[in-house]
Amino acid sequence: LEPEEFRRQAHLVVDFLADYYSNIEKYPVCSQVEPGYLTKSMPKSAPLKPEPIETILQDVQKHIIPGITHWQSPGFFGYFQTNGSTGNFLGEMLLTGFNTAGFNWLASPAATELEMIVTEWILELLQLPKSFSFSSNGGGVIHGSTCESFVCTLIAAREKKLKQLGADQRGDLCKLVVYCSDQTHFSLQKACQVVGISPDNVRSIQTKKSVNFQLSPDALLTAIESDVRAGLIPLYLCLTLGTTPTTAVDPLLTLSEIAQRYHIWTHVDAAYAGSACICPEFRHFLDGVEGATSFSFNPHKWFLTTLDCCCLWVKDQTDLTNALSNDPELLKNKASDSKQVVDYKNWQIALSRRFRAMKLWMVLRSYGVTGLQQVIRKHVKLAQHLEAQLSADGNFEVVVPRNFATVCFRVSPLALTSVPNGSTNDDLANHLTRTLLESLNKTGLVYMTHAVIEGIYVIRVAIGATLTDEKHVNMLWDMVQEHASGLLAKYAD
Ligand code: PLP
Repeated sequence: LEPEEFRRQAHLVVDFLADYYSNIEKYPVCSQVEPGYLTKSMPKSAPLKPEPIETILQDVQKHIIPGITHWQSPGFFGYFQTNGSTGNFLGEMLLTGFNTAGFNWLASPAATELEMIVTEWILELLQLPKSFSFSSNGGGVIHGSTCESFVCTLIAAREKKLKQLGADQRGDLCKLVVYCSDQTHFSLQKACQVVGISPDNVRSIQTKKSVNFQLSPDALLTAIESDVRAGLIPLYLCLTLGTTPTTAVDPLLTLSEIAQRYHIWTHVDAAYAGSACICPEFRHFLDGVEGATSFSFNPHKWFLTTLDCCCLWVKDQTDLTNALSNDPELLKNKASDSKQVVDYKNWQIALSRRFRAMKLWMVLRSYGVTGLQQVIRKHVKLAQHLEAQLSADGNFEVVVPRNFATVCFRVSPLALTSVPNGSTNDDLANHLTRTLLESLNKTGLVYMTHAVIEGIYVIRVAIGATLTDEKHVNMLWDMVQEHASGLLAKYAD
């Protein structure tokens, strides 16, 4: 790592990326390569001798770029976006350049303290209750993913509950029950598996379109009471602010009150929509969060911050540290012994950790709160515009009311006047919506993904890529109309 050569090569990479962003709209949004394409073009073994950066970058252009799905393309409307920014990329360069392992305070005091500072800043931005702050008993930590936050909070809840039940109650592990809705992100199921919760004890409570796919307090209460009667032990409730299929928001206050009655740990997963709550007009979605035990959101979705970055806050930091701490001789130091510092290794699974606070701090400083709010509002406005156009066109149905910047629509079953025998309007609408999605994605100009809710196949348009502007959403709308009219010709007047 010779500084002058590092400078030369790094400039080449920055130029390469700047050109990539200049040309991003020329690439098909979703990669169109066939499985195994790269294996065919790459040597079987690693190079014996060093190769120049120029040759390596030529290969990136020729072989890697065709196999990339361009999540940063303005035509990317799939899943939930992971939107990046100059501030974030530069922060990522700095944290990689410093390459610290920051597992405890001493291993990199700035990494630990900056993480505490940015999580406190964001706590204030989201107007989270003070009980989640380091100034009370709580605090924030940056994990790599929501799945990791699920695992850590589940372990914390499990250990706390088993301790309450008595020292020799390990056998009760098989009685612990986790509650969520059928809209909760599927990574919760995996997290439960990891922490030893039986799949039979994960209650995925059915939601209904008539109540916009929110978890029903009555259904939750019924499930808990039935489990208690059966001698099982309610442990953990996962509520979602912005579900993945339709961005539904669970009624946090009522549900967390029920959970409190049964001493259940309540986690609020705001992976996608948490970012929006920095705007006063969206903050009401967080009402009731004061009843939660823990709360997490992913800046790596809609906060101009790239993967990986998930902020988690807990009300009682000892819940995490009691469950996840170790104290090996190798890491002993005076600062840790003094108990005056945070050792983040005790708030997560792995030992070593990236200096993720650096990129989040760079984002917050580079754009300020107003800059971040502007981005959220721009995407929401674009989504409102698209939703209005879809709603006004009889060929389409907006399947659930839009809460944020994701629009869920389908070909309207009411538009179908000529339905083949043996099929229903809903079946045909599902078929046509799926075909519409495939034909739009095949153009390479846009990329969207789908969800199936109560048997309804919907196209999800998640607007949130940093480069997406009005002209891209207008282009999408023109394409939707054009492709749908071809498909509908046979079935509608
Ligand atoms: N929760 C919600 C609501 C999500 O939408 C997602 C991903 O889209 C996740 C959790 C999983 O997030 P991660 O990939 O950070 O584990």
